[in-house]
Amino acid sequence: MKILVMNAGSSSLKYQLVDMEKETVVAKGLCERVGASDSFHKHGVDTDERVISVYLPDHHAAVKAVLEVLVDSKIGSISSLNEIDAVGHRVVHGGEFFKESVRIDDDVIEKIDQCSVLAPLHNPPALAGIIACRDLMSDKPQVAVFDTAFHQSMPPKAYMYALPYEMYEKYKIRRYGFHGTSHRYIADRAADLLGRPLADLRLITCHLGNGCSITAIDHGYSVETSMGFTPLEGLMMGTRSGSIDPAIVTYLIGTQGMTAAEVENMMNRESGLLGISGLSNDLRDIRAATEAGHERATLAYDMYSNSVKKFIGQYVFAMAGVDAIVLTAGVGENCDRMRRMIFQGLEPLGIIVDQGLNCQRGYERFISTEESPVKVIVIPTNEELMIARDVADLI
Ligand code: AMP
Repeated sequence: MKILVMNAGSSSLKYQLVDMEKETVVAKGLCERVGASDSFHKHGVDTDERVISVYLPDHHAAVKAVLEVLVDSKIGSISSLNEIDAVGHRVVHGGEFFKESVRIDDDVIEKIDQCSVLAPLHNPPALAGIIACRDLMSDKPQVAVFDTAFHQSMPPKAYMYALPYEMYEKYKIRRYGFHGTSHRYIADRAADLLGRPLADLRLITCHLGNGCSITAIDHGYSVETSMGFTPLEGLMMGTRSGSIDPAIVTYLIGTQGMTAAEVENMMNRESGLLGISGLSNDLRDIRAATEAGHERATLAYDMYSNSVKKFIGQYVFAMAGVDAIVLTAGVGENCDRMRRMIFQGLEPLGIIVDQGLNCQRGYERFISTEESPVKVIVIPTNEELMIARDVADLI
């Protein structure tokens, strides 16, 4: 069985064709700058990658270009679209409608559209991708996999904000949480590596990339997560502030003459590692600068690790303990120094990292010592595979 996985961003379309027999990637690629005059299409697996310069005015054109390249006689991977059994779409926001992945029909499309107010940059392109696939491959089953769905298991005490209750009733203001597919994937893998059922475990999963979120997974269910109504809440990130005193927003608007849009832009694009260091949103740059003695880079680095440490602490208490802490994404998978700082000093709490294992890279592994009561595990995430598995299960 072959599943095509689509991940449409505001100006991009990523895709993978996955053969489910051995869970291998048959083809993958990315259309970038969709809607702009200099759009292009990268296609290929690993070293065999080609860049095709092609005007892609919208996501419909991008989906068409992807389907054409997949069956291209020279660089394609399949001889006909008939080899594709189904399509899985990553959709950022499923609101309170979707607690799991679903087969797409008119009603699902209508609900994804209704959630566009909650994710105006993400849901509309996902819908455009879905509609294009319906047009171009009307006979293929399609499935939507939501970033928010995994967190729908949170209890009200975790997802409600202490605002007047009407804010929830009228405007659906509540914590939704994001990165759910990644948290779910690494939790499943962690259970496999621990040799225990997920239903027996208390896990804290940390997705630390350019965007960052942490989730408490209690016996298989997300019970707390750091991102909130939007992906701005929680941890300090590459360019996002994470949680701040909300009164700062009203102070800047009411007293310093900034507009709401300026404050929002500042918190989403000019804050985090970039805002504090004044250098970069990329932790590799920050790390190099700290080694050269750059003070604000050092502060940014310290703030980032402190922010992760405090969330882990909260979630240990929320679950009255933890069996394993799992790290993934660009920083979580690759930065040994950040991992060392996050877990430094936690040995009396039973979290003991083996620095030899911590320094290795690029594969799934325990980085805690054998005696460590709490296990620490690094797992490269694979959201596309998780989406493909959901599609295979549903069809
Ligand atoms: P992601 O969003 O998962 O692609 O993660 C991107 C972030 O991972 C980058 O912005 C970097 O900050 C970080 N990253 C990737 N590789 C490394 C590395 N070797 N050391 C430190 N940070 C890294």
